[in-house]
Amino acid sequence: MTTTEPVRPFRADLPVPADLLALDAHDPLRAKRAEFMLPPGVIYLDGNSLGALPRAVPDRVSRVVTYEWGEQLIRSWTANAHTEQDWMGLPDRVAAKIARLIGASPHEVAVGDSTSVNTFKALTAALSLTDRRVILTDADNFPTDLYMAQGLGALLPDVELRRVPAEEITAHLTPDVGVLLLTEVDYRTGRRLDLATLTAQACHAGILTVWDLAHSAGAFPVNLNGCGADFAVGCGYKFLNGGPGAPGFLFAAERHHEAATIGLSGWMGHAQPFEMARAYVPASGARRFVVGTPQVLGLSALDAALDVFADVDMTQLRAKSLSLSATFMRLMEPIMTRFPLTLVTPTTESERGSQVSYRHPEARDVMADLITAGVIGDFRTPDILRFGLTPLYHTHADVWRAVRGIEAVLENRA
Ligand SMILES: *Cc1c(COP(=O)(O)O)cnc(C)c1O
Repeated sequence: MTTTEPVRPFRADLPVPADLLALDAHDPLRAKRAEFMLPPGVIYLDGNSLGALPRAVPDRVSRVVTYEWGEQLIRSWTANAHTEQDWMGLPDRVAAKIARLIGASPHEVAVGDSTSVNTFKALTAALSLTDRRVILTDADNFPTDLYMAQGLGALLPDVELRRVPAEEITAHLTPDVGVLLLTEVDYRTGRRLDLATLTAQACHAGILTVWDLAHSAGAFPVNLNGCGADFAVGCGYKFLNGGPGAPGFLFAAERHHEAATIGLSGWMGHAQPFEMARAYVPASGARRFVVGTPQVLGLSALDAALDVFADVDMTQLRAKSLSLSATFMRLMEPIMTRFPLTLVTPTTESERGSQVSYRHPEARDVMADLITAGVIGDFRTPDILRFGLTPLYHTHADVWRAVRGIEAVLENRA
């Protein structure tokens, strides 16, 4: 930390360039910002870690707690089928909203548990569909993806986890590989892999795909069925804005529902949970991947949060995301020449997600100063400054002010 006073970047007298104001004035998504509660005095560039709070969520959660739980008690589990209060149907209703965003059918998505647990479920299901025992993954995949695969390898000793650099994946789609486990957007660099091409190559090589969409779902259009993906998982609390620890999701292509083994065969994935049968009979569709009692509070927040997307054209969302990130990189260029910053996010549009990242030798301290100054991004070890762009509520003016804040903090430290 610096000993000098951090510079506050939010001076109202700093005029935003007219070209950026014009982009904001013509932004087809500009009304969406009003649907979020954004604290004043802060530019929040961390929606890729914890999405901002949609205005509809507090009322919904409060109603669920005080009325559905407090007054209706156990009756809320079943009494109100097909309404907002139907707790038993809640995972399926949330699944339908997520399905639309990832190019899946509603019955191909199961909502519940964490992304980590869903990764385990997807990997076991995929392995049950092939005799091949190698799981191929990006050596720099997100830690939990690697750990879950390692744990599975420890449980099933013939399973081997093979880690290669992301750019060498294609060369490693060999006949012993059964499952390809990849995260579409790298959490540090924001580099986006070509999901369509890699899925097609894997399929051609007889390999099943498990895609982690943690930084994809809600960030840009995803078309799992259009690409022939087999399985996918993702987070509810990042670009989907479902709140801290929101339930994650699992996608299983319909063609695998009957054949895949359900490793975590819990009673809530049973065809008739309240028959209390001795033998496990899976529910139809992806509902069989729901394990235990639905996390009603978290699901309710996520359900309300997803309504923000109901009228959003995801193609427009992607266009705005790219415009925001391009603006960010362009405005940072002159600053990069003055400070030890290295851009690690691809400048090619198709190769980036919805974040921009830089290396800086003192990234941890720089980010601490930035957060103090009201520009909230995050630090990722060892030296990454990460700035998430959320087209639902960011403006080009926000990007401009954030860059002025970064410049001020770096000047202040120098
Ligand atoms: C954020 C993230 C996760 C999070 O997993 P949880 O089980 O929700 O903690 C998983 N995978 C990737 C790639 C992530 O970025």
